[in-house]
Amino acid sequence: MKDMKILLVEDSPKVLHALQRQMELAGFKYLSVKNGQEAMEVLENERGFCLIISDWLMPKMTGFELLTEVRRSEKFATIPFLMVTGKDSVDDVVTALRFGANDYITKPYHPEELLARVRNLLKIWRYERELEGKTLTDDLTGLHNRRHFEQALTREIAEAKRYGTALSLVLCDIDHFKKLNDDHGHLTGDEVLRGMGALIRQGVREVDYPCRYGGEEFALILPHTDCDGAMVAAERLRKAIAQDYRMEIAGRSLGLTCSFGVAQFEEDSDTMENLIDKADKALYRSKQDGRNRVSRAA
Ligand code: GH3
Ligand code: MG
Ligand code: MG
Ligand code: MG
Repeated sequence: MKDMKILLVEDSPKVLHALQRQMELAGFKYLSVKNGQEAMEVLENERGFCLIISDWLMPKMTGFELLTEVRRSEKFATIPFLMVTGKDSVDDVVTALRFGANDYITKPYHPEELLARVRNLLKIWRYERELEGKTLTDDLTGLHNRRHFEQALTREIAEAKRYGTALSLVLCDIDHFKKLNDDHGHLTGDEVLRGMGALIRQGVREVDYPCRYGGEEFALILPHTDCDGAMVAAERLRKAIAQDYRMEIAGRSLGLTCSFGVAQFEEDSDTMENLIDKADKALYRSKQDGRNRVSRAA
């Protein structure tokens, strides 16, 4: 939320200058471009836009064309769009709203009205992000949930294919967790899962997407990482858990271990299901070979 900014799209220097001043006075960060084409370029290259304020009539690419492009795209479809234009017929307003503009204001506008509308759109944007965060986060551990895991893995597979970069997956399963639940109760089990979540989050970079994959299973997506690199990352995590993880239960200090399976995405042969299956089989081998270890996919 800290880095959120507004994209101003306006070809008239005079109108743009006024818009910029209003944004500054209201304390909003913004970036300005002169037409729809430039706007698309900026959107492709920069993240963090929470609102697009766009004129309609501009050379190269109009605000209406920009609106339809943005709404069609997967990445920007949820960015609120405010049309600020001299086109003031009911037909124009209805068309823009029907094609996905969230709000519409005609020139000349009153600065206070513009700001009020901007604030409303930003409020909606914040609620939506908050809700999205909740639907993609695991309540117990605060890690990404299974749904987010699948979204992220789908995206990373597409990136790896497009740019020919490496991609690996690590699956991690707590050893003998059932016994811990049986011996100490489910609430203690939950407490341990929370602690494991924190440890895993600390142990990896945010781009590695630490996820709670299932009950006591975790997953890491490692972009730009081959199998050797993923083995190193998994081994580091395995060691950290086996050595550092301690839980005080009934006056006793309790340790815990995990088993890991590592697989690299093979562009020619793998689907998402294959990749998960390979990592899962490797994990199974770690269990069979005695647990508290890392295995790579055959
Ligand atoms: P292994 O070393 O073979 O992995 O043994 P395990 O007992 O960890 O494996 P198994 O998959 O048979 O059991 C997983 C257990 O994890 C089952 C269930 O008791 C526990 N579990 C799953 N989800 C939760 C949860 O949300 N909270 C708690 N407390 N326990 C859970
Ligand atoms: Mg114009
Ligand atoms: Mg399990
Ligand atoms: Mg287990």
